Amino acid sequence: MHILVTNDDGITAPGLLALAQEMRKIGQVSVLAPDRNWSASGHVKTLDRPLRVRETLLADGTPAFTSDGAPSDCVALALLGLFSEKIDMVVSGINPNGNFGHDVTYSGTVTAAMEGAIAGLPSIAVSVEPNEPVIGPLDYGPTARIARRVAEQVIAHGLPERTLLNVNVPYLPEDQIRGILVTRMGLRIYRDLLVRREDPRGRPYYWIGGEAPTGVPDEGTDFGAFSRGYVSVTPLQLDLTSYTALEAMESWDWGERA
Ligand code: MN
Repeated sequence: MHILVTNDDGITAPGLLALAQEMRKIGQVSVLAPDRNWSASGHVKTLDRPLRVRETLLADGTPAFTSDGAPSDCVALALLGLFSEKIDMVVSGINPNGNFGHDVTYSGTVTAAMEGAIAGLPSIAVSVEPNEPVIGPLDYGPTARIARRVAEQVIAHGLPERTLLNVNVPYLPEDQIRGILVTRMGLRIYRDLLVRREDPRGRPYYWIGGEAPTGVPDEGTDFGAFSRGYVSVTPLQLDLTSYTALEAMESWDWGERA
């Protein structure tokens, strides 16, 4: 089992190191991660400039690779043959914020796993969500161990084609995590506000500001599981077709059919 470990927070992020160390217990690990933070960069394919890859070391002294591409570029580089040995699974994270509901469309962590799923590999995105602001560095140990348990299940059972898993772990002491629930995507409540300011020359600029998002804690959803102290494991597919709309739209008047 050759596991590609990547993230969207950059090669020096402690969540990446914790994940790589845990994945080494179940397979051979190659690390290729961006050289800077790409959080909330969405799904990227860089086509208009060359991508550089250089060798580096993680904080534990193990070799790794870093690229100036996006998280999904890192996955593409690895799966297109950067490493001589074939990759069997992609694991992305650990992101220091949850990715619930529609966050998956913004998330560099999740879109890295999407790139793996598009290429036909079992892929897992892992995030940890603190309930309240944490002072000092996060302890990624509990989340990393849960990520390994999820990866072990994927190795044992496999995943359907073009499916990825989005894993969200509550930031709690290990003995207070109530278990793992298989969930569907929930709904985030975004509280974005447009902040308009002026630069020193009087020209306006804008920030997307506002408070951090919350979520609808419906049972059976990712955010619902999190708010009850459970880990959520959400299987995601990339078929975004609205089958309800598709069926309804069949009866619209589309004119003569060929
Ligand atoms: Mn991030």
